Amino acid sequence: MAKNKVLEPFHGSRHDHDHCIDEAMAAAEIICVAAEARLTPLRRRVLEMVWQSHEPVGAYDLLNQLQKEKSRAAPPTVYRALEFLLEHGLVHRIETLNAYVGCGEPHSHHGAQFLICRDCGAVAELDDSDISRTILNKAKHQGFQVQRQTIEIMGLCPDCTSDSGNGHVAT
Ligand SMILES: [Zn+2]
Ligand SMILES: [Zn+2]
Ligand SMILES: [Zn+2]
Repeated sequence: MAKNKVLEPFHGSRHDHDHCIDEAMAAAEIICVAAEARLTPLRRRVLEMVWQSHEPVGAYDLLNQLQKEKSRAAPPTVYRALEFLLEHGLVHRIETLNAYVGCGEPHSHHGAQFLICRDCGAVAELDDSDISRTILNKAKHQGFQVQRQTIEIMGLCPDCTSDSGNGHVAT
């Protein structure tokens, strides 16, 4: 079945982000209940912190924030919480930035292509089976077995493109 979905668009700077957070937290509750997994207060808090914006956030920043709230939060606490969130598909890891971003559609298993704005850091998430299939085919020709596909594309989001004043941006 061909899929060509935008799991998380660029929202732009003016949108009701509280709504994004509410939706993400509600989805997380449902997913954890279905998986019989415990969304502990700490895991919940880490997820909220990842969702504070659409920009990927690093584990170290999360730890810093958490330590302001709970002085005794140790690094393994944050990493374990992130592992849990990754395992349940609630967040994605952006390898090139070594950072985490909330998943736009955690209910579905999906391939992921990320468009990452190098100016403001906003991330959009796509699930395009044409891209995934092309990669699988190319890899197969090389006798390569694909285990995971995460594509990270750097560029400028619509907000940052219009700020720069020129419509065309070299990629
Ligand atoms: Zn938002
Ligand atoms: Zn996702
Ligand atoms: Zn941008």
